[in-house]
Amino acid sequence: MPMEKTAYSWPTPSAPDAKTQAFPELTAEQMNRIRAAGELRKVVPGEILFAPDDTDISFFALLSGGMEIVQPDWSGQERPVTTHGPGHFTGEITMISGKRCLVRGRVTEAGEFLEVKSADFRSLVARDAELCEIFMRAFILRRLLLITHGMGNVLVMGSRHSANTLRVREFLTRNAHPYTYIDLDTDSAAQAFLDRFDVKLTDVPVVVCNSQNLLRNPTTQQLADRLGLSGNIDNTHVRDVIIVGAGPSGLAAAVYAASEGLDALVVETEAPGGQAGSSSKIENYLGFPTGVSGQELSSRAVAQAHKFGAKMMVGHGVVRLDCSKRPYQIVLDNDEKLAARAIIISTGAQYNKPQIANLKEFEGRGIYYGATFIESQMCVGENVIVVGGANSAGQAAVFLAQSARKVYMLVRRDGLADTMSRYLIQRISENPGIELHCNTEITALEGDGDGQVRSVTWVDKRTGQTSTHDICHVFVMTGASPRTEWLQGCVALDNKGFILTGRDLDDGHLAPSSPAWSLHSRAPLMLETSLPGVFAVGDVRSGNVKRVASAVGEGAIAVHLVHRALAEI
Ligand SMILES: Cc1cc2nc3c(=O)[nH]c(=O)nc-3n(C[C@H](O)[C@H](O)[C@H](O)COP(=O)(O)OP(=O)(O)OC[C@H]3O[C@@H](n4cnc5c(N)ncnc54)[C@H](O)[C@@H]3O)c2cc1C
Repeated sequence: MPMEKTAYSWPTPSAPDAKTQAFPELTAEQMNRIRAAGELRKVVPGEILFAPDDTDISFFALLSGGMEIVQPDWSGQERPVTTHGPGHFTGEITMISGKRCLVRGRVTEAGEFLEVKSADFRSLVARDAELCEIFMRAFILRRLLLITHGMGNVLVMGSRHSANTLRVREFLTRNAHPYTYIDLDTDSAAQAFLDRFDVKLTDVPVVVCNSQNLLRNPTTQQLADRLGLSGNIDNTHVRDVIIVGAGPSGLAAAVYAASEGLDALVVETEAPGGQAGSSSKIENYLGFPTGVSGQELSSRAVAQAHKFGAKMMVGHGVVRLDCSKRPYQIVLDNDEKLAARAIIISTGAQYNKPQIANLKEFEGRGIYYGATFIESQMCVGENVIVVGGANSAGQAAVFLAQSARKVYMLVRRDGLADTMSRYLIQRISENPGIELHCNTEITALEGDGDGQVRSVTWVDKRTGQTSTHDICHVFVMTGASPRTEWLQGCVALDNKGFILTGRDLDDGHLAPSSPAWSLHSRAPLMLETSLPGVFAVGDVRSGNVKRVASAVGEGAIAVHLVHRALAEI
């Protein structure tokens, strides 16, 4: 059965010493520092030290003896991952995040291991900078190796014609969760297997977790819960701050809040990274002269937030803010409530959709709102359309031109100068694989029997001339609107629905019937909304500048202001 490796771009283990860095040997002196944090444990062959689905597992450093790390696969067999001998240590990203373990660790040779319980391990990492660096690097590289070898505890059996397959694969990829993909369109053995279990077309994709649980076309929430991505969150506990949304602004807030000792929880409905996570290459973020993919940036930020102790709940959205009393409560899509003394709103913006009658029925089947590696692989050697004239559209066009036959860029305005950075305009004009059509709009989409886009009609608004083209992939990059629907009258918004903060609250920008600032003792702080102790950052904020750097900066500033707001309570 052919298995596709999952693509991921964070950080490439191409350096000659990548294996050494993923599996380094600790010195006697480093072992002694670990010994002080844990206990000596005598182990015997066959002992299982951890298994898939276990949470908060112990860390082990091997003084003598040996062990193997294996992954039970969906057919009940075990696939070897690695072996550890004296001087080695166990663990990967889940050691820091506290999420469910992906592999089985079995002793193969009797010996003495140092065992450090998960909470003690996190304290060790927090106070020992040298060990922290060794472990973090090794854990990130080990996760990457699992991803690049498709060695996840998840098997996805899907079809390229199924929008839900794309949704599930994107969810796993953007959450850096390793998985193996089997394409039912090309794998007849897998199809026969599913037929035997009476799996219908509407059940696709079928997801097998830990070789046991079979989920038929799971919702994002079901998948997140099954994989433990929604976390083991105590809902009776009042937190210092809840951060709603894990785009660049929310992740920055999480890193600064946790590193400054605040008890912080991030709630994210889809996957960390937000809009930036769907960018193939961000070239104007400080410190990355050769650019960085949005996914790489967010994966690093997630690891950093976990390192400082931030908690993260992924796969559940916030549907309401209960602002009737303090502490404020957020209400999740499963009706669970979580309380906090301060809230940072970082829910960003969602894609605008052009007015095309049957657009929705083709979403994920020819209509895409992001241009990441997964989508680019679906249109290798084919013609594609990118709609939009801002930077995100420009980046998508340049990126897709690397794999597509031709990129038609359709722009409603009569040029790019007012909406796109100069460097991108230049790249587009110099790229023979990109054909720019200004004053042009799509007027119709036609599909085939499988529900996939088959042809696109567009109109040149200057001449009124329409033309129809056999193109199956349309990337819609036409800007975004704020995600504030869940706030339902709790905070003041401007007339486009963005959240007003600080001085803008009394500058007459308020939408009719917006709530007003209620504290008489002081004016609202810089990023504070009309609700004391509730802050808004990034693209959801009125007056935002739609940049990763400004979103990150606002996340950091908001945490500084949260300290001031908490001091008042
Ligand atoms: C394709 C693309 C390319 C881009 N390229 C660049 C670039 O090169 N340089 C640059 O500076 N900027 C770029 N941008 C803009 C930049 O990505 C945004 O300005 C930035 O992501 C804003 O960050 P944010 O955290 O405010 O919001 P977002 O990135 O929008 O993140 C918001 C997050 O909140 C989550 N969320 C929303 N509602 C809820 C809810 N109710 N409950 C829980 N979670 C919720 C969302 O799922 C999302 O993850 C690009 C944008 C796109 C789309």
